[in-house]
Amino acid sequence: MTNSLKIYNTLTRQKETFVPIQEGRVGLYVCGPTVYNDVHMGNCRTFLSFDVIYRYLIHLGYKVRYVRNITDAGHLTDDGDEGEDKISKKARIDQLEPMEIVHKYTMGFRDVMKQFNVLTPNIEPTATGHIVEQIEMTKQILQNGYAYEANGTIYCDVDKLNQLYDYGQLSGRKLDDLYTNTRELDGQSDKRGAFDFALWKKANPEHLQQWQSPWGMGFPGWHLECSAMSRKYLGERFDIHGGGMDLVPIHHTNEIAQSMACCKTTPANYWMHTNMLTVNGTKMSKSLNNAFLPHELFAGSHPLLEQAYSPMTVRFFFLQAHYSSTIDFSNEALQAAEKGYKRLMNAHKSLLQLTHSGNQTAGNNTEDKAVLQLLDECYERMNDDFNTPQTIAVLFELSSKINAYHNKQANLNDLSKDTFDRLITVFTSFITNVLGLLDETTTADNGITEGLMQLVLQMRTDARNRKDWLTSDIIRDRLNDLKITVKDGKDGTTWGVD
Ligand code: AMP
Ligand code: ZN
Repeated sequence: MTNSLKIYNTLTRQKETFVPIQEGRVGLYVCGPTVYNDVHMGNCRTFLSFDVIYRYLIHLGYKVRYVRNITDAGHLTDDGDEGEDKISKKARIDQLEPMEIVHKYTMGFRDVMKQFNVLTPNIEPTATGHIVEQIEMTKQILQNGYAYEANGTIYCDVDKLNQLYDYGQLSGRKLDDLYTNTRELDGQSDKRGAFDFALWKKANPEHLQQWQSPWGMGFPGWHLECSAMSRKYLGERFDIHGGGMDLVPIHHTNEIAQSMACCKTTPANYWMHTNMLTVNGTKMSKSLNNAFLPHELFAGSHPLLEQAYSPMTVRFFFLQAHYSSTIDFSNEALQAAEKGYKRLMNAHKSLLQLTHSGNQTAGNNTEDKAVLQLLDECYERMNDDFNTPQTIAVLFELSSKINAYHNKQANLNDLSKDTFDRLITVFTSFITNVLGLLDETTTADNGITEGLMQLVLQMRTDARNRKDWLTSDIIRDRLNDLKITVKDGKDGTTWGVD
């Protein structure tokens, strides 16, 4: 295990050496989706970025407990304390039970994650499954004097907390400055300060999801679920907390506030934030109506798309940007990603076909050293705050070398057997385990289609060799009916789908 991993910490605005609380173990919490409609590509970017982070931590040998929640209650339409619950609103419009909405979109989310080869977290807790823990946390915060009740709603007292620690540390904005840019509370509000937020909200009788509490019928505030569930599964202080950058100023700032108020500690040592997927420079968002859904990309059915893009092309497209940079959606960038992905996968296939003479001593020491150096660089780039674009650049350099060995433009036996073995191990594990790229030509059905097609084509070739034109034509026509075209070339017969 290496201790040279560096992580950019939003809390300190610095790249820091990663030191886990417990040696060899990592507690990782990422804010998951609010399951009131289909996840869009922007959401996917965030979950895919954390998938690579999770995968690399595992690759380094850490035992990781990865918790990513499902928000199924409490997230209001204004992302704050006002408006309708997003799930209840959708349930009302579709005339379904809130839990039907939750079930439908949770299943959809999991399907999409699977298509992108995103690993399942170790725990996927839901807000509605942790009402008791949220009530307990609210009670504790009240007892500690950092919350007050007004009309059945419990508010966190931000002004008081700001005396305990710097409330604006994560967002880099001092509370005093925030006040100067904010309107005074109108006389109607029960809040004592404009930045106070609800831990627990009183529910009107028509509110669809509500629970009994010491303060009457109500429901938890959006930020509270993450504090209660991360505390339950990872402890009061854990290693890494993540989410999209848009969560910094309110959701994550208030998660820290809740932990400080309840446990007198900030919940996580490292705060990691992914940047936004944009469309023509504007954040992709459900509310701005500029969101693409994954299936629209896979089918090429959105008006802005010139063609369909496969899940692995899209995964590669995201990995070509650092998680902390914005990435703008464009057909050109996706087409380039498609080429890049294929180049890497083809190099990997070529690598697996190479055979080394087994000689331990290198015929050309410079070549041997160059390959070892590039393999080390893969780790250096990933250790530098999970820099996937730079890691991919190194993998491309290695691909050029592999292609040269494959085309016999360079001599594979210039590498020692050990270096060759290391090349296979590191290259393979970076592509498959760390970057999570699957070979789409064989993995969709474990190669069954390819195997069956080879069998059919062989039967057709046998028929032709016997001059049984009737059988060979029937096979070709039936394949054509399935939109499968067959081409006979000098190197044999190939097939494709129209
Ligand atoms: P939500 O379902 O709205 O709670 O969002 C789930 C996650 O997706 C959060 O971590 C958001 O920060 C993230 N997210 C939302 N929009 C985008 C976007 N355009 N690009 C990247 N991440 C996003
Ligand atoms: Zn959260």
